[in-house]
Amino acid sequence: MTAIPQERRVVTAIPGPKSLELQNRRTATVAAGVGSVMPVFAARASGGVVEDVDGNSFIDFGSGIAVTSVGSSAEAVVRRATAQLADFTHTCFMVTPYEGYVEVCEQLAELTPGDHPKKSALFNSGAEAVENAVKIARSYTKRQAVVVFDHGYHGRTNLTMALTSKNMPYKNGFGPFAPEIYRVPVAYGYRWPTGPQNAGAEASAQAIDEISKQVGAENVAAIVIEPLLGEGGFIEPAKGFLPAIAKFAKDNGIVFVADEIQSGFCRTGQWFACEDEGVVPDLITTAKGIAGGLPLAAVTGRAEIMDAPHSGGLGGTYGGNPVACAAALGAIETMRELDLVSKARRIEEIMKPRLKEMAEKFHVIGDVRGRGAMLALELVKDRDTKEPNPEATAALAKACHMEGLLVLTTGTYSNVLRFLPPLVIGEDLLTEGLDILEQALAGL
Ligand SMILES: *Cc1c(COP(=O)(O)O)cnc(C)c1O
Repeated sequence: MTAIPQERRVVTAIPGPKSLELQNRRTATVAAGVGSVMPVFAARASGGVVEDVDGNSFIDFGSGIAVTSVGSSAEAVVRRATAQLADFTHTCFMVTPYEGYVEVCEQLAELTPGDHPKKSALFNSGAEAVENAVKIARSYTKRQAVVVFDHGYHGRTNLTMALTSKNMPYKNGFGPFAPEIYRVPVAYGYRWPTGPQNAGAEASAQAIDEISKQVGAENVAAIVIEPLLGEGGFIEPAKGFLPAIAKFAKDNGIVFVADEIQSGFCRTGQWFACEDEGVVPDLITTAKGIAGGLPLAAVTGRAEIMDAPHSGGLGGTYGGNPVACAAALGAIETMRELDLVSKARRIEEIMKPRLKEMAEKFHVIGDVRGRGAMLALELVKDRDTKEPNPEATAALAKACHMEGLLVLTTGTYSNVLRFLPPLVIGEDLLTEGLDILEQALAGL
């Protein structure tokens, strides 16, 4: 692990000359469909900063999309992964199993909500975990239908594209999509016609009515939902919505799947976001924050559901790779030792009041929301009509990038600026990042 000064430093134009040169090589050889948020190439990253190849240092409000919650190249992740690299890089768990995989499953059983017997299966990516959760739920229930929600995001493979709500850029031109997927309303408080206070009850009633009348509860294998919606715009389903949907699933023998790939592992100020309303999912999918940056994903849940598929029905060549498992054990060790659940709450304490102050000053901000270190601003053209303002959102993100603050956008209407700092970021960097954001808002 290299010690990188925890400071913002802009020493060239953004992008600098070395990034520009790499950009030219990239354009010649990397497929155009693979996009990037930042115009700069990374050289090093740790703690709360990402350094580029020109020596610029960015305050990191993105964590590589909620992945490096423990920081990039965190000490315990590097230590454990390095030791594992020296021992063996791969045997394939389906050929010769190893302890690290079992240990990760033990940790997942302990950390995820509910004290029922649990089992896990490990995969390489979030999308793969969601696909497998659907396979497991179908195998257990012997039903086919899958219910998902407006603004939901679950990945880019064929089945998960079908589960995902937003057309551009995720689905456009990539069909046909998998059948037996049904989409119902979610309690998006800010945009719910009768207001946020009614959204939980009304949206859950509407969703349940649609499932019952249009699909038939007895045909539904799984309901898949993000307890705090990520790519849809950091939407917190209004209070009461998640418990009502979870109860409906339970009453009708439907497997309730919480997709905590973005919201999990301390991000929202809990180990998992569904804990805030006491919801215990039957299955939970995790990835992103799980392994400090190495590719790993999991489905964890009730032992009797997880054991439904026949032996050999689940797996994959690389699923639960030993180096990724070692990294996950290092990341989980770091989360426990540094109490990153509390750190995420502290980040909210620092950031949210500042964001609310900005909302009072700048009327382009329609809503401030999120929990822990998963916070967002929704930008609008007019506070009364709530017409989305994707142009201001893009301009604001770009202005921040130019000043050395790495921020991401999101949302069905591309009008949400989201903040996902590493949970180990220094408080001075957080405050400096907020100052830059405020200046950028003033300069719009
Ligand atoms: C990122 C994400 C996925 C997909 O994960 P990949 O590792 O990119 O396949 C699925 N669900 C949610 C909620 C996500 O945020």
